[in-house]
Amino acid sequence: MISDSGPGRRIDLHAHSTASDGTLSPAELVRAAADAGLDVVAITDHDTTAGWAPALAALPAGLSLVRGAELSCRWFGADPPVPLHLLAYLFDPDHPELVAELARVRTAREERGERIVDLLRADGIDVDWAEILTAAAGGTVGRPHIAQALIRAGLVGTTSEAFGPDWLGERYRLPKEDIEVFHAVRLVRAAGGVPVFAHPRASRRGRVVPDELIAQLAAAGLAGLEVDHEDHSAEERAHVRALAADLGLLVTGSSDFHGTHKTVRLGAFTTAPDVYERLVAEAGGVTGIASG
Ligand code: AMP
Ligand code: FE
Ligand code: FE
Ligand code: ZN
Repeated sequence: MISDSGPGRRIDLHAHSTASDGTLSPAELVRAAADAGLDVVAITDHDTTAGWAPALAALPAGLSLVRGAELSCRWFGADPPVPLHLLAYLFDPDHPELVAELARVRTAREERGERIVDLLRADGIDVDWAEILTAAAGGTVGRPHIAQALIRAGLVGTTSEAFGPDWLGERYRLPKEDIEVFHAVRLVRAAGGVPVFAHPRASRRGRVVPDELIAQLAAAGLAGLEVDHEDHSAEERAHVRALAADLGLLVTGSSDFHGTHKTVRLGAFTTAPDVYERLVAEAGGVTGIASG
C-alpha cells in the first residue's frame, strides 16, 4: 500500500546508514529524512539489509521507507575489470542465493580491508585493523572506515583527501571480490527486486563502463539509471538521461547520503513521483513499502 500519493512528494532513493559506511544509525537516518522534508527515503547500504529492521522500527509518521541495498558489482568485459554499483530495491531479503552472495562480498571486504591496512603498515603508517573494525561496529566495512582511521591518525584532513591517489584512491587501493554484474541483475530480479545502476557515469570515481554494456544490462533486466547524482557533471547527466530514454529505462535521482562521510545532504537530488510509482509497480518482492 502506498499512502503517500500526491504530486509534490520528495523522494530520495539512495542513502547509507551505519549498517555500511554512513554515519547515522538506521533510526537516525529515517528521522533525518523526515526532518529534511522527504516523503520517501530508500535505505541502500552496501551489500547488506541489516539496516532495514531498525529503520522500520523507527519510521516517523508520514515517511515511506523503500528497502534496498547497493550491491558491489564488477564488469569483466574490460582489463582490469571495472567495479560498479547496482542499487536493488524491494527484493526478498531471504532469497537464499542473494543472501549468500551478500555474505560472501561482506567477508571479502573484510579481508581486503585488512590487506589495505597491511600495505599501509608496511609503509610505516600507523593504522590498526582491529580499531577500524570496532569503529565500523558490525556494519559493512569499506574504504571510508579506513579513511576515518587516516583522519584520526592526522595523516589526512578529510575523507576526500583520503580518497586521493596517494592514499585509498590509488596507491593503497585493492580490488574487492564483487558480484558479476549480469549475475547481480538477474539475481535481484529473481528475488523480486528492481535493479538500478547507481551513478553509472561518475568518471571522477574512476573508470566508467561503455553505453553498450548498459544496453546489454537493460536487455538482461536492468530497470533504471541513476542520473541525478552529485558525482555526475551536467554533461554526464545529460548523456545518461538520453541513454535511459533510448533504452526505455527509468531515470532516478538521489543524494547517496553518507552522513558526515560526505558533504551531500538528504534530498539534495530526488526522483520524480511517476518514476517512483513505476519502480514500485515493477517490484514483486515479498516486502513492500512501509509507510510511517
Ligand atoms: P569501497 O566500497 O570500500 O570500495 O569504498 C567505496 C565507498 O567510498 C563509496 O561507497 C563511497 O561511500 C566512498 N567514496 C568513494 N569515492 C570517494 C571520494 N572520492 N570521496 C569520499 N568518499 C568516497
Ligand atoms: Fe559508500
Ligand atoms: Fe555507490
Ligand atoms: Zn551509495
